[in-house]
Amino acid sequence: MAEPREFPPGPQPGRPPLAAASRLSPLQQAYAAYTDHAIHCDACRDIDRTCSQAETLWRGYQAAGSETYRRMADEAP
Ligand SMILES: [Zn+2]
Repeated sequence: MAEPREFPPGPQPGRPPLAAASRLSPLQQAYAAYTDHAIHCDACRDIDRTCSQAETLWRGYQAAGSETYRRMADEAP
């Protein structure tokens, strides 16, 4: 028997997209900014990956991750 899903598959009419920015953590928002860019950017599809905007967004994601882990370490008992 399959595990019950928390959400039924497929788009939900009348609901916002799952990636609604207001519900994402700063780390998730940074990753979404990177992936949203990379999906739609021609330069990011280039095999040499020379897109400077993607690099900036990726560094922002890494910085957000470092900040998140630093906060978690500070809040740990
Ligand atoms: Zn790009």
